[in-house]
Amino acid sequence: MPTDRQLPIYLDRHATTPVDPRVLAAMLPYFTEHFGNPTSTTHEYGWTAEAAVTGARETIATAIGASPEEIVFTSGATEANNLALKGVAEAYFAKGQHIITLQTEHNAVLDPCKYLESLGFTVTYLPVQSDGLVDLDELKNAFRPDTILVSIMSANNEIGVLQPLVDIGKLCRENGVLFHTDAAQSIGQIPLDVELLNIDLMSMTAHKVYGPKGIGALYVRRRNPRVKLSPQLHGGGHERGMRSGTLYPPQIVGFAKAVEFGIAEMEVETARLTQLRARLWSQLSQIDGIYLNGHPTLRLPGNLNISIAGVDGNALLLGLRPTVALSSGAACSSAKIEPSHVLRAIGRSESLAYAALRFGIGHNNTVEQIDRVATATIATVQSLRKLALRS
Ligand SMILES: *Cc1c(COP(=O)(O)O)cnc(C)c1O
Repeated sequence: MPTDRQLPIYLDRHATTPVDPRVLAAMLPYFTEHFGNPTSTTHEYGWTAEAAVTGARETIATAIGASPEEIVFTSGATEANNLALKGVAEAYFAKGQHIITLQTEHNAVLDPCKYLESLGFTVTYLPVQSDGLVDLDELKNAFRPDTILVSIMSANNEIGVLQPLVDIGKLCRENGVLFHTDAAQSIGQIPLDVELLNIDLMSMTAHKVYGPKGIGALYVRRRNPRVKLSPQLHGGGHERGMRSGTLYPPQIVGFAKAVEFGIAEMEVETARLTQLRARLWSQLSQIDGIYLNGHPTLRLPGNLNISIAGVDGNALLLGLRPTVALSSGAACSSAKIEPSHVLRAIGRSESLAYAALRFGIGHNNTVEQIDRVATATIATVQSLRKLALRS
């Protein structure tokens, strides 16, 4: 690859983020100098690694209002979701076999749900309103005597909308049903307190908040109620038996640092991202036939998701490729040529669901970049429409 070529502007933070150099610096000693296994109890190498893991566990627990023993490290949010859903399903099988979730969840929730259906569980996939938010009355009506779990995400990975976790948590508690939330997009970006929100299980990941890939955690409530979980990985009995496998100190340290910085800088960054998004939208909204997908304000500060009528989504992405790195939806499903299930669930037509762009604004983006992206988007839409007129 030529080195003098300018890389496109990165606006795909919902897919992943770069590791913050401060996070990397904290991780590095644990690859080499402090390489010990945190469960080695007979020597200093093990103790040093264990101290690092203990500190990181405390940091993450404090960040979400939990206790350290409620944090189970996993390889990321996909594994945490699988552990939460399958782990609860197996442990509460005798109590009931009904689960409630949303049509707009990430595949890392939907696919385990489908798997559980194949085993005989019943899953209610609640629709969402046109703004992407759950209808609380629909949720209320969905509870059954055999409901064991509600799994509703915090922030949507495509349209960024923030579900009303306070109300959902309250409803779950009133109905004696466990509440799991996939917080992959929101940990370190918006305030999350498991006590305040009555969350019983919460999936987290580091790589959407400037931490490394391949590390995350599941918060598992230990008191009122004490959540039972059937482990999905059996082995050395790590993580109090809930997730066996040698702990990975560099990644764990990096995860904690990323969350720590995310929270310390949340207020300033939220204000900055909100402004950049408003600037982008004010320029793009001049395009005829443009639609904003998702609630205008109850969404992640760096998220803007739009559909543009009368243009081909793939042609649009292709035209923008030299200028900006973004996607039309979830990174994990963009290989399939299917319209986004999230956009279909908020009522977008198939053609509008195809012609969507997801802008994810992050740490390194500037006003100048946002203006360049807006200009390029407007120009690309104009030229595609001209082409369409000629043919
Ligand atoms: C990215 C993401 C996941 C998957 O997380 P990994 O740590 O990459 O496994 C799950 N849910 C949501 C909402 C996500 O955005």
